[in-house]
Amino acid sequence: MARDYYDILGVSKTATNEELKKAYRKLAVKHHPDKNPDNKEAEEKFKESAEAYSVLSDPQKRQRYDQFGRQGLNQNGFGGGFSGHGMSMDDIFSQFGNIFGDAFGGGGFSSFFGGGTQRRNSNRGADLRVNLRLNLEEIYKGIKKQIKLKRYEHCPDCNGAGGSGKKTCSVCHGTGEIRERVNSFFGQMINTKPCYNCHGQGVVIEQPCFTCKGDGRIKREATISIEVPSGVQDGNYMTLHGEGHAGLRNGEEGDLIVIFKEENHPIYTRSGNDIIISCEITWPQAVFGDELEVPTLSGKVSFKINSGTVHGKIYRLRGKGLPILHGHRYGDQLIQIHIKTPTHVDRDEKKLIKELYQLYSKKNNIKIKKFTP
Ligand SMILES: [Zn+2]
Ligand SMILES: [Zn+2]
Repeated sequence: MARDYYDILGVSKTATNEELKKAYRKLAVKHHPDKNPDNKEAEEKFKESAEAYSVLSDPQKRQRYDQFGRQGLNQNGFGGGFSGHGMSMDDIFSQFGNIFGDAFGGGGFSSFFGGGTQRRNSNRGADLRVNLRLNLEEIYKGIKKQIKLKRYEHCPDCNGAGGSGKKTCSVCHGTGEIRERVNSFFGQMINTKPCYNCHGQGVVIEQPCFTCKGDGRIKREATISIEVPSGVQDGNYMTLHGEGHAGLRNGEEGDLIVIFKEENHPIYTRSGNDIIISCEITWPQAVFGDELEVPTLSGKVSFKINSGTVHGKIYRLRGKGLPILHGHRYGDQLIQIHIKTPTHVDRDEKKLIKELYQLYSKKNNIKIKKFTP
């Protein structure tokens, strides 16, 4: 059973705000983790008192607590950070930093933790990544493509400002950052991160824009044109500066990163800038040689196969591969020969093949062990 908040702070049910603050400050100083390193009990007490204070110092929450106990805090609008699992250190430091500041010699929250108060400008929009699928024909020629995407754009109703009027953020007290303790190999350290409430700005908008709720940006569908140069490879990417997400409240736009994805081709296989194709021929063609026609990315091309071409031989068509990116040269097309074995032969063919085989065996001194056509 969780303890009563008034008991935790050691105050009466009629305690004034000033009394609550004083009691809490005393407990916070006593159980502060810096004074009690590696003391789990102290940490629990530190958290417990912060939780009690966060409820009792808020008139609305206090009233609910007085009426319904902790149950009353778990309902909509109250649950949040401390229903069930207590407050995190982060919550405590971000909400009550000013109190600690007073308690520790008036140096303020930041100086107490030894950190600077430099504001992080975190309102630049995020980069956006999209994959763009391309087939080899498109890669060969280069192509202009339209990409549809959803991104944040500056809100037209407030011109990206987010609304009007500004006030100091109540979460970070204007510093724009939140400190959190992390346990690392080197011991406990303090990490700072941009404040979630004001997005690192230190100020919040007093009258937020209805359309964008004060963000100064809204999600929209956009169509972007991109010129893909010829010869790109799978995994290559292009950065379009300023085409990513709009930043919060007129913050700078992020970049759009377009990553090229090469589709598999039904007949061509890519190897660097070369194109490989396999070509089936019959065994008489392999024996006598022939003139063949093969497809290439620049159209059909004739080429000669020599007499006595063996299975697996590779012919090279120079300059018939893919263009080399940002260059003027091209790769080659490689043609790999496959000799097709006839699988359905009729009686006449069988007779002739048998004769041919006997002739061949005699000439090459091959002993026929078993031959039953
Ligand atoms: Zn707006
Ligand atoms: Zn803030």
